[in-house]
Amino acid sequence: MAHLYDRVALIGLGLIAGSMFHAIKRAGLAKEVVGYARSAETRDVAREIGLCDRVVDSAAQAVEGADLVMLCVPVGAMGAVAAEIAPSLQQGALVSDVGSTKAAVIEAVTPHLPEGVHFIPAHPLAGTEQSGPKSGFAELFDNRWCLLTPQEGTDPAMLLKYKSFWEGLGSKVDEMDAQHHDLVLAVTSHTPHLIAYTMVGVADDLGRVTDSEVVQYSAAGFRDFTRIAASDPTMWRDVFLANKDATLEILGRFTEELFALQRAIRTGDGDHLHDYFTRTRAIRRGIIEAGQDTDAPNFGRNAK
Ligand code: NAP
Repeated sequence: MAHLYDRVALIGLGLIAGSMFHAIKRAGLAKEVVGYARSAETRDVAREIGLCDRVVDSAAQAVEGADLVMLCVPVGAMGAVAAEIAPSLQQGALVSDVGSTKAAVIEAVTPHLPEGVHFIPAHPLAGTEQSGPKSGFAELFDNRWCLLTPQEGTDPAMLLKYKSFWEGLGSKVDEMDAQHHDLVLAVTSHTPHLIAYTMVGVADDLGRVTDSEVVQYSAAGFRDFTRIAASDPTMWRDVFLANKDATLEILGRFTEELFALQRAIRTGDGDHLHDYFTRTRAIRRGIIEAGQDTDAPNFGRNAK
């Protein structure tokens, strides 16, 4: 593919930025990729492993002359980073981000951006529990959704080009209102993460009682929870603080359903449990039919 941008600046050099770099190179989407991370340690690792064509020592330097600037830091840091780069942004540049929540990021970033600079927020629905500059890989976004949440007045040509960029990275692209995005993600990602964190915490408390049984007999369900609960603590702290309302709304509904199931178990209402599990099984089939997961047993992993 012919390059879409002359210079892409990646601010933050973790899993998402690293994967973007590799995918940009795979598809030849930019002439040059410049990177910056706040710690000297991360910048040194990035230089060592050849992550980015150039790694520079300030965010301001990274965005100079860039026609696409990607904010790839935790959502709670987006506002401060936007303030730091604002005076150095090139007229006509597009600023975007990959934050897992959208309304709070828009609120934090928009006030800092100068006239003549565009902003189109994005969220690639792709990730792993790994983080840091060595964790990225080119295939991360392949066949995964990237949700764009453009605001009113967004330049249609800018949007079209940016959409092609994510398609070039391997994604399927959709557009959504930021508030709606936050509610959808509270259901599909944020609340499930909180449940996984809680379940692993509960098992850890139990583990102290039952020695190593929790780890030794860790079956698929619990193992999957531990994988999710190993996700980056800073990123997830920021997600819940930034998507407070939607997460609390979904947690409220979750708690009600949990109580209903708890009551069905206590009163021996097997029909309730069976009907419920039949409904949820159909949802899993729907996910597989939509090509969003594999129907291989144990998610295609080798049972050990
Ligand atoms: P990551 O691997 O932990 O990398 C985060 C990067 O941000 C690091 O380079 C870190 O710098 C920098 N950073 C951390 N705190 C900062 C601060 N206060 N100010 C400036 N820079 C800071 O994270 P990631 O998984 O790539 O996530 C980046 C963004 O993508 C987040 O907004 C997250 O919500 C979003 N996202 C993540 C996933 C996922 O599954 N991981 C999926 C979709 C979207 P140092 O290395 O110098 O500490």
